[in-house]
Amino acid sequence: MSAKQLLSVVVPCYNEEAVIRETHQRLAALLAGLDSLDFEIVYVDDGSRDDTPRILHQLYAEDPHVRVLRFSRNFGHQIAVTAGVEHATGDAVVLIDADLQDPPEVIARMVERWREGYDVAYGIRTDRPGETAFKLWTAKAFYRLLNRLSDTKIPLDTGDFRLMDRKVVLALQAMPERDRFIRGMVSWVGFRQIEVPYERAPRLAGESKYPFYKMFRFALDGIASFSIAPLRLATWMGFSASGLAMLGIVYALFLRFFTSIWVTGWTALFIVILFMGGIQLLTLGIIGEYVGRIYAEAKRRPLYLVQERLGFEQPDGHAERPLSMWEA
Ligand code: UDP
Ligand code: MG
Repeated sequence: MSAKQLLSVVVPCYNEEAVIRETHQRLAALLAGLDSLDFEIVYVDDGSRDDTPRILHQLYAEDPHVRVLRFSRNFGHQIAVTAGVEHATGDAVVLIDADLQDPPEVIARMVERWREGYDVAYGIRTDRPGETAFKLWTAKAFYRLLNRLSDTKIPLDTGDFRLMDRKVVLALQAMPERDRFIRGMVSWVGFRQIEVPYERAPRLAGESKYPFYKMFRFALDGIASFSIAPLRLATWMGFSASGLAMLGIVYALFLRFFTSIWVTGWTALFIVILFMGGIQLLTLGIIGEYVGRIYAEAKRRPLYLVQERLGFEQPDGHAERPLSMWEA
């Protein structure tokens, strides 16, 4: 073992053939310049269907700093990051996207912060050129909402671009949940955290792997894994609907016994049925979201399956031995 500390950089890649080479060059050049540190770059191929796996093979052959983990299929960004973090052996681990939207140069500033004694240095985006106004607006609204609903304060305008000390990595590994909203989990962990402002660049090439429905799912995951406020909302709606129902009952009885107009009132009846039906379905849906998550947790399936591993030492030659609690 060398005396230098090791920095691991985790890069999730899903169909990134257009950018991955250049990303590697920029990353490797930058990391080689941090002379107080050794480094490794862990690429997690999240079931790409393009040329990404082949390029990663080449990078592995060319550069001894490269490690490659290849999933058996697409498991999603947050799970790719989880696997990378789990396989990283560094004293600190950096998460960065493959598309160079997060400039690698910022890593140097994160490392400085780490040297000063901070355990997490998270990138905070001051500017995001090249993103649609819609994405910016929804992202902002989402973080505001999430922070209102959750006890864990998750900083606004952050992504997963961050450096984490080994102890934070260990803490993350002790969190076995399947719905992995990593930026929130890192906030939850605590320790000394500091922001590192940076300007987010437009995607280098290729297209975003987060279409609207994936963003929506991601937002739901974030809320459901950090808050039970929707369940409270369901209770609250139940109470208000019951309150209104009581008034309705009194009103109906009054009409029935003290007036002669009790056969009318079809409109009111109709409205009440629709209203109650709507609230019941909504409430069931909210409960269902949580029950579904409990179901997924209860199955205890592995979080991901690895098809190929390059550059990782097998401790005792048992290549099939599971490396982790999540892996098959
Ligand atoms: N990504 C992944 N699996 C997926 C979707 C995305 O590993 O199912 C990776 C992708 O290759 C990139 C990062 O996650 O490195 C962020 O994706 P993208 O840049 O498309 O998201 P955006 O920046 O548009 O939010
Ligand atoms: Mg991107």
